[in-house]
Order: sequence, then structure tokens, then C-alpha cells
Amino acid sequence: MNNTNEMTVEFKSIAMNEAFARMVVAAFIASTNPTLEEVSDVKTAVSEAVTNSIIHGYEGKDGYITLLSRVCGRSVYIEIRDDGCGIPDVKQAMEPMYTTRPKEDRSGMGFSFMEAFMDKLEVESTVGIGTVVKMWKEIGVVKHHFE
Ligand code: ATP
Ligand code: MG
Repeated sequence: MNNTNEMTVEFKSIAMNEAFARMVVAAFIASTNPTLEEVSDVKTAVSEAVTNSIIHGYEGKDGYITLLSRVCGRSVYIEIRDDGCGIPDVKQAMEPMYTTRPKEDRSGMGFSFMEAFMDKLEVESTVGIGTVVKMWKEIGVVKHHFE
């Protein structure tokens, strides 16, 4: 028996698609019967990743972002991919308050939010090729932040 559902959506790297991506993912994970807080956490994580692709990956230029999601029972998997500039040092980029755009009112907390709101986060990136952000969340399981 295969009870996995999957969807992929591709959209242009423009700011108005942050809201679109949030809505799409919220609708898709509805089958996991999440609380409002869980939906909000997932939407926040997705918009942080999509915003990063738009601002940093494509640096405001036109490109395409792919959002893939898989749901199996109450397990949610989300992948946000861009073919943008890539990240030279992923470990450094993921540190809280690290930003390459301090003058533009960026706080460098995007990856930290994704990490806090989801159970697991993985980032793969190659300079000149692009970036893939992978996130997992188990719906209905309380996460202990300070374990
Ligand atoms: P904030 O998210 O708080 O507005 P930020 O976007 O700079 O600030 P993070 O989201 O944590 O902070 O990202 C840290 C850094 O990683 C960015 O400043 C950028 O240099 C790099 N980065 C993140 N996502 C991408 C991406 N998709 N492509 C290229 N670089 C990225
Ligand atoms: Mg960010």
C-alpha cells in the first residue's frame, strides 16, 4: 500500500509568489490535520526559504523556484529549489544572525526560523548551480526546543 501524496509546483522568483507558496503548501498539508500553529510554522518556514531564493539565489532577477512536498500519514516533507547563485559556505550561512546583506535590513535569521519551526532542515548548495532546502515535520508531535 502506498499512501504517499506528492506535489510539485514551479513559479517565478517574484515577491508575490511568497504568499502563493505559503497557500499552496498549507492546502497540500491539510490532510495531515495540523493545528493552526503547525500550519503557521510550515508556512513561515516555506516563506523564509522562498524569500531566500528570490533575494539571494536570483538576486532579484527572473528565475524559477520549485516547491515539492510529500505527505505520508502525518509526516510532511518539503523541498524548495532554485537555480540561483548558490551558497559558498552553507555551514556559515546557517549560523544565526549571519547575513550577506546587512545593509538591506536582513537579520540573518531565516535558516534559524526554518530550523526552529520544522523538525529537521538540510541545505545543499553549489555555487553557480543553485540551492535546495529540505525540511521535515511530523504533525501532531510536540517539538522540545531545548532538549
Ligand atoms: P533574513 O532571512 O533574516 O531576512 P538572511 O536571508 O540574510 O536574513 P538567512 O535566511 O538565514 O538570512 O540566510 C543566510 C544567508 O545565506 C543569506 O544572507 C545568503 O547569503 C545565504 N542564502 C540563503 N539562501 C540562499 C539561496 N537560496 N541562494 C543563495 N544564498 C542564500
Ligand atoms: Mg532569509
